[in-house]
Parts: sequence; structure tokens; C-alpha cells
Amino acid sequence: MITYWPDYYREFKCKAGSCQHTCCSGWVIGIDEKSMERFGKEPDIVSKITDCRFDMREDGRCPFLRDDNLCEMIIDYGEDFLCDICREHPRFYNGVDGHIEAGVGLVCEAACDLVLDAEKHFALEGEDGSVLELPSYIKDVFDESMPLTLRLTKIANNRRASSKLRAEIFDEMETLDPLWDELTAKIIADPVTEEAEDELINNNAKAFANFAAYLQYRYRGFGRFSAEACYFVADIVLKGLPFKDAVRMFSGEVEYSDVNIDSALEIFE
Ligand code: SF4
Repeated sequence: MITYWPDYYREFKCKAGSCQHTCCSGWVIGIDEKSMERFGKEPDIVSKITDCRFDMREDGRCPFLRDDNLCEMIIDYGEDFLCDICREHPRFYNGVDGHIEAGVGLVCEAACDLVLDAEKHFALEGEDGSVLELPSYIKDVFDESMPLTLRLTKIANNRRASSKLRAEIFDEMETLDPLWDELTAKIIADPVTEEAEDELINNNAKAFANFAAYLQYRYRGFGRFSAEACYFVADIVLKGLPFKDAVRMFSGEVEYSDVNIDSALEIFE
């Protein structure tokens, strides 16, 4: 099966030691069976694993993450030695009609820079050199003949939750970062008007369109969810968080929890 990647993926490179929000902290890192066999032969590795999971430190950091944010396992054993989840993160893969659509998730700082700062819409390039035409649910997001907020209205079929209701829905979900709870509570206590959301989104149309198109691509046209995600990120920005931090946090809290993403896609179907 051919795997297609957005063209920006060619430039993807982990920021490693210079990443401000390393992905090697704050998660449960589960280890696949094959890697467990490999790790089992190395006493200095296996001593830091319980029940096929790395024993994260009290501060949430991986036991192999050095103070300079470089991975001790890569340094000592090479990148090929990593378990699947560490080698593949932040890549995602979707099997679609006889091919695979892959990409990089916005929970990652380097992915955020690539995806959100893109000047033109992405193309889907196959590993065999072929190009896949973008589906209409992505083209609609990039259609600059109308303001982005109208494009979002179109992909959401004219449906839009109020700022308060949306925040209450996300507030109900399982949480990783206490700042997420703080921000949703702020929005519930003092909701944002649609006018304020629209102004922010249209004034930053390129970045928000890139975010919406990424979601449309990853979740294959769940337009309502993509639009609500844009409004919610706008609300978080209006409560004080910089745009890329808001997107990264949304991705970490909603996309990287199986329970949360399933529930968000169901509610905002
Ligand atoms: S978040 Fe992205 S850039 Fe940062 S360490 Fe992880 S993969 Fe690398």
C-alpha cells in the first residue's frame, strides 16, 4: 500500500534538545512486544520498566531523558533501538481506500511550526512519487474566495456551539495539564462572543486554516469538529495563551487521549 504524506513532512525534524515542550514527559509510554524482547536483554534498560511501561520520574520525565533533553537510549544504542511509540511519535497513519494517509500530530512543537506556518496549502505526496488530489473537505478550508469564518460555517453545516457550551464539553473530558482546566473554567465563567472569535480567526486566517485543514485531513472531513476546534482555540487565545501553545495543548488534551477524541468526534459529528 502506498503511503501519502503532506509535502511539508519532508522538512520534519525533531527539535530534540532544543524542544521547549518535549514529548518525553507527562505521558504514559507503553512499550510494544518486540521492543520489550530487545530491552529485556539490557539490564540498564529493563530496570527502568514496569508492566511494559517506562517508569516515569516524579516530575513526569522519561527515565532516559537527560537534563539537556536528549535521549540517553538514542545516544547509547542508536535510534533504531527505540520502541515503536518513541520512534514513530508524532507520526499518525490512517488506512484509507487501499492506501495510507500519514502525517505529523500537532502535539509536537516541530510539527506545529511546519503545519501552522505554511504559506500555501499542502499537497499529498506518495512514497512512489504520485500525488493524491486533496479531497473537497480539505479544499473547502483553503478556498480563499470567502472569509475563513464562512468556510468554517460551511464545513460545520451551519452548526456552532456557544463558547460556554463548548468549554463545558471540553471541561468534562479527562485532563492532562491543569492549565487546560484553568482555561476552560475561565471561558465558562466569562464566555467569548462569536464576534470576538470571528475577528481573531479572520485576522489570523492562514494559521487557523492550516489548523482546520490538518484536522480535516487527520479525521477525514469531520467538519463540525474541525470548526469547533478552531473556535475553541480562538477562545483559549483570547484568554491569554499564544496561538501555537493553544493548538499544541488542544492536540495533547483532545487528540492524544483515545477517550477524548472519540467523544469529541461523536459530540461534534
Ligand atoms: S515534541 Fe516534537 S520536536 Fe519536541 S522532542 Fe517531541 S518529537 Fe521532538
